[in-house]
Amino acid sequence: MNDLKCDVCQADITSAVNQRDYTHIAHRELCEACWETLNTVIRPILRTKQPFTYEWYDRLVMDTIETAMAKGKWGIR
Ligand SMILES: [Zn+2]
Repeated sequence: MNDLKCDVCQADITSAVNQRDYTHIAHRELCEACWETLNTVIRPILRTKQPFTYEWYDRLVMDTIETAMAKGKWGIR
């Protein structure tokens, strides 16, 4: 598993070991830095959502990743 690239920043994910160095989510691979950025981006949105559902969360994560891939960077909203 040495050919993994982060789907957003295109960084090589050379040491992909389980969930430690990359995150596989919504059929995408994210490097650790992008995963942390994703969480930073969605955290304020999560706070406003009542009631919380995992279906909504999954969609939010997917949409945020797809937007970041299209723009080539992470957006705040
Ligand atoms: Zn990345």
